[in-house]
Amino acid sequence: MRRLRPKLRSVWVFHVDAGACNGCDIEVLDVLTPFYDVERFGIKLVPTPRQADALLVTGSVNRQAVIGLKRVYEAMPPKPRIVVAIGSCAIAGGIFYDSLSVYGGVDKVLPVHLYIPGCPPRPEAILFGLGQLLGIVNKKVRAEEYIVKEPIKDRGYRGLFTERIYKDVRYFLTKYVGYYDRDEILENVCEVLRESRSIEEVEHRLIAKASSVRDPRLREVYLVLSGFVVEQLRGRSRT
Ligand code: SF4
Repeated sequence: MRRLRPKLRSVWVFHVDAGACNGCDIEVLDVLTPFYDVERFGIKLVPTPRQADALLVTGSVNRQAVIGLKRVYEAMPPKPRIVVAIGSCAIAGGIFYDSLSVYGGVDKVLPVHLYIPGCPPRPEAILFGLGQLLGIVNKKVRAEEYIVKEPIKDRGYRGLFTERIYKDVRYFLTKYVGYYDRDEILENVCEVLRESRSIEEVEHRLIAKASSVRDPRLREVYLVLSGFVVEQLRGRSRT
């Protein structure tokens, strides 16, 4: 796979049939149905290449289709202009390889960033490929060794930052974002709690943190978390 823009938040795609038998096209439609629901990852089918970040190309690129395919590519915005070849035909011609009437693969006419093999590829394979565009595959699939560190006795508890609130926030984050993003957010919240003098200041700082985060998913986490932390602190101050 060629290197893509480092962090895409969502991808709008336009589908082009460049001479497919319709097998691949049906599988592309499959991933858009509520069953596979590719839109939950921010991947949205658009009706015009002018709005598209990525082109999903199926078919072996026959001589009739090539001019249309190039025009569609040129109509896309200049960045990121991602091209995804779906199916054996789009990758290298498939069963039409070396035929007179076909170019034999999208990369003969356009630069391709991502290849999704199969004849046709299963919807899961298309989802996996499109997941790579968003960089979410590593997050979901990569295995990691969990190393138990020595317990830290003193985390700098003082003022509003107590061991009880630390454990509550960590438990909340584990349930809400999982282990992958938890520790970084937790460290930021601990810092806010250590440095704040009042509950209002904690709330203010966490909301400010939310608005400074670029990832909309993490922004949402900080907003929900600010409500949770404030509720916990207020509940404790009443008892
Ligand atoms: S890869 Fe297979 S299913 Fe897809 S267009 Fe070619 S022949 Fe049809």
